[in-house]
Amino acid sequence: MTIATDVLYLKSYINGEWVEAENTVEVINPANQEVIATAPRMSKEQTEEAIRAARVAFDEGEWKNTTAKDRSNILNAIANKLEERLEEFATLETQDNGKLYAEAEADVQDAIACFRYYAGIILHPDGETYHVPDNNVQAMVVKEPVGVAGLIVPWNFPLLMSVWKIAPALAAGNTIVYKPAEVTPVTAFKLFEILHELNLPKGVVNMVFGQGSIIGQTISESNDVDMVSFTGSTDVGRGIMRAAAGNLKKISLELGGKSPNIVFADADLEVAVDYGLFGIFLGAGQVCSSGSRILVQDTIYDEYVKRYVERAAKIKVGPGLDPETNMGAIVSEAQMNSILGYIEKGKAEGATLKTGGYRLTENGLDKGFFIAPTVFTDVTPDMTIVREEIFGPVVTIQKFSTEEEAVRLANDTDFGLAGGVFSNDGAKALRVIKQVRAGITWVNDYHPTYVEAPWGGYKQSGIGRSLGKYSLEEFQEVKQINIRLNVEPVGWFPQ
Ligand code: NAD
Repeated sequence: MTIATDVLYLKSYINGEWVEAENTVEVINPANQEVIATAPRMSKEQTEEAIRAARVAFDEGEWKNTTAKDRSNILNAIANKLEERLEEFATLETQDNGKLYAEAEADVQDAIACFRYYAGIILHPDGETYHVPDNNVQAMVVKEPVGVAGLIVPWNFPLLMSVWKIAPALAAGNTIVYKPAEVTPVTAFKLFEILHELNLPKGVVNMVFGQGSIIGQTISESNDVDMVSFTGSTDVGRGIMRAAAGNLKKISLELGGKSPNIVFADADLEVAVDYGLFGIFLGAGQVCSSGSRILVQDTIYDEYVKRYVERAAKIKVGPGLDPETNMGAIVSEAQMNSILGYIEKGKAEGATLKTGGYRLTENGLDKGFFIAPTVFTDVTPDMTIVREEIFGPVVTIQKFSTEEEAVRLANDTDFGLAGGVFSNDGAKALRVIKQVRAGITWVNDYHPTYVEAPWGGYKQSGIGRSLGKYSLEEFQEVKQINIRLNVEPVGWFPQ
């Protein structure tokens, strides 16, 4: 293991102060295992301190007196500072996560757009008035912040997943206790440098580095936290739901997926192959909405597979900062081993491995965690590689003959995050996509995501929606106010 020349020494941020811990953990670049940073492993007590700070800041501090315009200005200021440092953030994200620089750059641009979107939408008129059956009562609704929001995020889009939560949470007027993923803490720290410069009232924004089982668990269980917004695996999400039951805190869960990408014989084959590759190999398959199950109509199946495998084998895997690279590293050794384990299971259960299926070690890649783009065919619906989320560059290609069969196979999963349909028959494409039980879907397209539109899953892919007005609403309570216009005694009881 080598150490990068300028190692960053990260600190947590509690009640307006940078805080260290007794223990630290090394953060490595998965492309070459260089140590790029050390991050503190905070304790349960320090997490409780952060929660207390957020509680006091919400209940007693000046934050509640801020106007929507004040908070809008803060979000725009964050966006501007992020924009000035775009290259720095994108480079650090690439080094920390292993993704391509171009992907990291797009993530930072999306993060900037997200801050600006919530800076705008919080100024829109909201609330409602009601026509109740009493002309002497004016009934109306106002939106208020939920309170202390716990934000727990994964490692695959370290900055972007954080901003999807931080921007609407602050726009709505909550205070936050935020926990980045332990393997990818660097851009979280950098984002908090920006928040620190903006001099928000103490305790409004808190960040606690460390282990999920300690920090995440403490946040999820705490009676002082009013809501938890979590993005991560379905298993951890289930645990958070249980932990949140103590004080019945509000929960929002963005979980895993095993999304179908359906290709009909009347699709433009080149387009369908191209998006089929993009759907799974972007981010080396470590994307929750990846199209990891491609379903192809039988009459074009052989041709699709031939073209797909040829192109998958040509994808150049390497360090994200190398401009020649098409697909980056796997985030950690543990994740790489988990993916390789799934590949072995696929082979053992009888699937045909068409390309890839191994760790790449040549041309200097032995120092990092790289897996060749992997394609399996001859799979059956009961195989582990068809049922479980692998979260790596591994795709299965299944065959179907009728529209009904395509829909049945697409929905034959516990997940319901995303899905795509490729067809030049517009009515059929719409008919099929409407039957796919998933929250994020595309027709003749795969992956693009817009901050304006809601993001989230059906079934075991989650509860609630990120982005758009939906996310703002998740970070708000709805209050009914009834105002009597004729102020006189109710007269129900005798005088
Ligand atoms: P993970 O569930 O292991 O961890 C996510 C976060 O939860 C991390 O910060 C982790 O430290 C924390 N955590 C772990 N144990 C915890 C506990 N007991 N209590 C509270 N918090 C705990 O997920 P990951 O491996 O970081 O990310 C990959 C997963 O995230 C995949 O399943 C992927 O599909 C999912 N994901 C979903 C979306 C979406 O929008 N639906 C987006 C990105 C990633």
